[in-house]
Amino acid sequence: VLPGGESTTIDKLSRIFEVRDPLIAALRAGLPAYGSCAGMIMLADRLVDAPSDQQTFGGLDITVRRNAFGRQTDSFEADLTGGWPTGDPFRAVFIRAPEVVAYGSEVEVLATVPRPDGSEHVVAVRQGSLLATAFHPEVAGDPRIHGYFVELVRTVTATS
Ligand code: GLN
Repeated sequence: VLPGGESTTIDKLSRIFEVRDPLIAALRAGLPAYGSCAGMIMLADRLVDAPSDQQTFGGLDITVRRNAFGRQTDSFEADLTGGWPTGDPFRAVFIRAPEVVAYGSEVEVLATVPRPDGSEHVVAVRQGSLLATAFHPEVAGDPRIHGYFVELVRTVTATS
């Protein structure tokens, strides 16, 4: 699990402590992973609105915009509906969250969130054994997304 936090710091520390390359190798070899918020950023193949030297671990064929909903004070909560696989609604907490602005054909969009201006934003995706959400399910105390990930791990390890 790649948690929330600050992706630029996760990136730098992963290089300093030399976990970056082994982790990338494990992900490419099929290690299931779930990234929330900064973790979603770390699993993205491409970033926008990020420092030019920021690196990710990659694996998800998605383009992610950092801080897509504004500053820390623009953080918000929303009920996800519309067929979210863990059951509707899901209370999602967005803390200076990213969004997925583009994705490849292998990527399954699991959830979107509407904003007051009428726009709709992709905030949860899955591709193979990789799962990512722009929000923090642990903050709302609802275990369904973690349960979904555990099931995903079971499925992937049973078939590999
Ligand atoms: N804004 C942070 C980043 O860009 C992510 C915030 C979070 O993980 N809650 O890394």
